[in-house]
Amino acid sequence: MIRLFVAGDLAAGEPVALDAAQAHYLGAVMRLAVGEEIYAFNGRDGEWRARLVDLGRKGGTLEATNRVRGQAPTPDLELIVAVVKRPRLEIVVEKAAELGVRRLRPALTARTNGGRVNLGRLTAIAAEAAEQTGRLDVPEILSPAKLTTILDRWERGRRLMFCDEAGEAAPAWDALAGDAPGPWAILIGPEGGFSAEERARVRALPGALPVSLGPRILRADTAAIVAIALWQSALGDWRGP
Ligand code: SAH
Repeated sequence: MIRLFVAGDLAAGEPVALDAAQAHYLGAVMRLAVGEEIYAFNGRDGEWRARLVDLGRKGGTLEATNRVRGQAPTPDLELIVAVVKRPRLEIVVEKAAELGVRRLRPALTARTNGGRVNLGRLTAIAAEAAEQTGRLDVPEILSPAKLTTILDRWERGRRLMFCDEAGEAAPAWDALAGDAPGPWAILIGPEGGFSAEERARVRALPGALPVSLGPRILRADTAAIVAIALWQSALGDWRGP
């Protein structure tokens, strides 16, 4: 059954508006007709069965019928990734959504070479991945910020898994397995790596945990996927009971 991320509130008997793209997807692509059912979620109200009550060119309407799953929180994991070339950044967004990141922040670093970031497109990619993956929220894509600004405004108590291929860093699994869950972030650098000043700045952040992802240098997208998997296994919702 189709899963759709919607903006409006979900409550029994209440109408939920579909935008033109969603209406097109349900009608023209999935060939659904009025009266048929899908699942809908909005990141707040859990997952609902919803009946298609109206479908047109400019939009449509669903009516939520009954709730099938309650809202469950995603681990408080933020991915901070240097802006890399568009195809790789899009892969990072899709995979981060599948792997269970709560929030993603593109960062501008000294050696960033990715160019403009299309937030709308990245958000659409995140929503599609969330729909397909079964999660009940869509990771928030924050607007790009300078790495220095992100560090200046660092939220007290949030830990940082600093993926650092150059310099002394403990093997990621060893370092994470002995650590505590809670609010965390993962930092991945650009293809050119971090500058020496950036590296020193990040390491000076209280709560920073420099880690190595092995003896090979990974592309930023690979590094992001691997780092999330390790964090989820050690401290996130992939742990056993
Ligand atoms: N400076 C490198 C390339 C950086 S790879 C060079 O050109 O030689 C892009 C990012 O992926 C890095 O900044 C780091 O955050 C992460 N990364 C890649 N391989 C890694 C590894 N083996 N250990 C830790 N982080 C790694």
